[in-house]
Amino acid sequence: MYTFDYQRPEQADAAVKTLTANGEAKYLAGGQSLLPTMRLRLAQPSALIDVTRIASMKAISVSGDTVTIGGAVCHAQVAASADVKKALPGLADLAGRIGDRQVRERGTIGGSLANDDPAACYPSAVLALNATVVTDRRRIAADDFFLGMYETALEPDELITAVEFTLAERAAYEKFRNPASHFALVGVFVARRADGVRVAVTGAAPSVFRAKELEAALSKDFSVASARSVTISPGGLNDDMHASAAYRAHLIPVLAGRAIERANAF
Ligand SMILES: Cc1cc2nc3c(=O)[nH]c(=O)nc-3n(C[C@H](O)[C@H](O)[C@H](O)COP(=O)(O)OP(=O)(O)OC[C@H]3O[C@@H](n4cnc5c(N)ncnc54)[C@H](O)[C@@H]3O)c2cc1C
Repeated sequence: MYTFDYQRPEQADAAVKTLTANGEAKYLAGGQSLLPTMRLRLAQPSALIDVTRIASMKAISVSGDTVTIGGAVCHAQVAASADVKKALPGLADLAGRIGDRQVRERGTIGGSLANDDPAACYPSAVLALNATVVTDRRRIAADDFFLGMYETALEPDELITAVEFTLAERAAYEKFRNPASHFALVGVFVARRADGVRVAVTGAAPSVFRAKELEAALSKDFSVASARSVTISPGGLNDDMHASAAYRAHLIPVLAGRAIERANAF
């Protein structure tokens, strides 16, 4: 490690101001991605602005059909929340299967979305549930948020203060996990609402994406058989030491079917 400044503001606007005043500063949430990156010297921020003491970013609330999760809420908090379990059990279930106990106690939803790891779990929920990413300056629709591998619509100094999810009739996530990290080799989040079905896939490509073939099939018939009848092309999917593109393509409808089973069981 090398020297850097450390600040821990208690208000979101103070965090943004402090970051802007510090040149090459970065927000620090759980540190689960940022600190290893710094240890490897792939990032050398001049200051870390810790956002985990900002009370407004640590809250979970449910109002009408909207579940709001503060940007600094850790995965364990989402997994344990009685409100989330009741309103969106598939989201609480996803959070409870991220990494291991230590990662879930530190890692946050805002850090996960800002980092946008191609194998992260939350991006699939945000995209399938058509959530809104709320920042210190605007509201970003899920379809506009994820731009590519580790690339989002966020400005360098923009702070995710919350994520708003709308309820779904049925929603669940299933992943084929990397046995070492528990990241998704492939992960599929399925969400059904009155106006149709959205399916988002993580781990399979450089960035999370919607599986339109599955959405079309499941909007007509929300069943395991319908999911399994869909063929996904391996073109453009990741092909690496963990799995071939063809294997990942095979997994997508299989996991969509398992997600439907999971959603039906909540
Ligand atoms: C061993 C291991 C296993 C893991 N397994 C999984 C898994 O199975 N599934 C999964 O989805 N994830 C997994 N993760 C990732 C982890 O859950 C975290 O979500 C992720 O590391 C980032 O969250 P963080 O809060 O630690 O962010 P940090 O590491 O603190 O920050 C990451 C990036 O986001 C920025 N940032 C942080 N908060 C904000 C904010 N509010 N607004 C704007 N920018 C912000 C930081 O500046 C930094 O660039 C794993 C991580 C580890 C180390």
